[in-house]
Amino acid sequence: MKLKIMKLVFATNNKHKLAEIQQVLGDKFEIISLKDLNFSEDIPEPHDSLEDNAREKSSFVYNRFKMNCFADDTGLEIEALNGEPGVYAARYAGENPSYDDNMNKVLENLKGIENRKARFRTVVSLIIDGKEFQFEGIVEGKILKEKHGDAGFGYDPIFMPDGYNQSFAQMSHNIKNKISHRGKAIEKLIAFLRLNYGSK
Ligand code: IMP
Repeated sequence: MKLKIMKLVFATNNKHKLAEIQQVLGDKFEIISLKDLNFSEDIPEPHDSLEDNAREKSSFVYNRFKMNCFADDTGLEIEALNGEPGVYAARYAGENPSYDDNMNKVLENLKGIENRKARFRTVVSLIIDGKEFQFEGIVEGKILKEKHGDAGFGYDPIFMPDGYNQSFAQMSHNIKNKISHRGKAIEKLIAFLRLNYGSK
């Protein structure tokens, strides 16, 4: 099936993620948010893998609204902490922590540790006409010793991608989108949609 302009629901209530995705996909696909669908509940993320959580979220939305959709799940893996916080990045400092709580816990746990290597990994789950496809994006970098910058969200102020001398929170959205975990996974998603569902 070839579609000219595809409508896709992005299964998130995170306004930062929505803004990032709209910037990248907005002129190629019609992105519908959960807010547009008047849906504001949290979608469960009960699994211990990004793949399963991303699928849980996209299936939930597909089953509820019967609309083509995608969801993402992201983890932060810190080498010296044996991969923590990993898939539990959102809840690292307890139930409903602020981004600052989570960053403070990372900084505290890495105090005095020289190995600051870390990576973000995103899995995007796309459901088109009931079939699921997954795309992965990874960005390698390091955890800074203190917070820098105030753009972005989550762990952005303490994450510096390899090859750059700014944290994600000091970069323009454009640059972050080009090199980030989610940006890379979304790039693969776009290539897939263009190849299989785009206009010729
Ligand atoms: P989620 O499960 O995909 O929403 O991501 C889990 C957590 O990872 C979020 O609550 C953020 O703290 C963090 N996170 C996800 N994406 C990013 C990002 O692009 N920059 C910084 N932190 C992020």
